[in-house]
Amino acid sequence: MPELPEVETVTSGLNFAIKNLIVKKVHVSRYDLRITVSKKIKSVVNNVKVIGVTRRAKYGIIQFDNHYSVVFHLGMSGRIIIERNKFKPLQKHDHVSMEFIEQNNIKAKVRFIFRDPRRFGFFNIYQNEDNNYKNIFKNLGPEPLQKSFPVKDFYENINKKISSIKSLLLNQSIISGLGNIYICESLFLAKISPFTLGCNLNLKDISYLYSKIEEVLNKAIKEGGTTIQDHKNVSGEIGYFQNYLSVYNRENNKCKNNCKSLIKRDIQNGRSTYYCPKCQK
Ligand SMILES: [Zn+2]
Repeated sequence: MPELPEVETVTSGLNFAIKNLIVKKVHVSRYDLRITVSKKIKSVVNNVKVIGVTRRAKYGIIQFDNHYSVVFHLGMSGRIIIERNKFKPLQKHDHVSMEFIEQNNIKAKVRFIFRDPRRFGFFNIYQNEDNNYKNIFKNLGPEPLQKSFPVKDFYENINKKISSIKSLLLNQSIISGLGNIYICESLFLAKISPFTLGCNLNLKDISYLYSKIEEVLNKAIKEGGTTIQDHKNVSGEIGYFQNYLSVYNRENNKCKNNCKSLIKRDIQNGRSTYYCPKCQK
């Protein structure tokens, strides 16, 4: 499932491709995504300019200059495909496509496609003042890579809970954008067991953990994200961060700290958790 670094890779690629372009055509093959695509999407953005593409948590946001925005989520298997000048025929799981031209050069055509075989994602248009738009972002916690991340609040939110640190980090209202892969990796680097209860971690532990979350995310963004299963980045290329994974998907492999232990996989909150039983306490 795409996490913050994968969505960042997609949104920055899309921003580069369509910023300042004008929408010329919108095609919707399927409206019944996780959230039903609004029928007005075609009329609302036709001939409208893209201001830019940004990211919040695991959501991509395409902002138009008429106070409307598209919000998309890649779900489990979603991808964004960009084409220039020559467009291939749409495929079975290409649910939405948008074509663009440059303001002064109608020949410079760009198209992107929202492709999502498993349809756990969504792609929809909202007026920026609409409550449905604001509600998407209402309960999201701070961005892990924001300037002056509130480490002390982060610590207090974790320390008052008797849940495991793994499930607290998955909680998007405590910190946004993290998922299974980067949580397993950060906890390994911070030498904290995924089963440790939040209330048993002190400010020093949490500050150190936060520094490792930052480190892992920055490195993953630099490598274009992780490609596990069928997620690919916006240009269709695979991300290379999987070469750097220390624990995720490494069950029964040697711990990279040379502690002579093997990486263990357990089921936690219904999902796989990977960790070193010797290094992580
Ligand atoms: Zn180890």
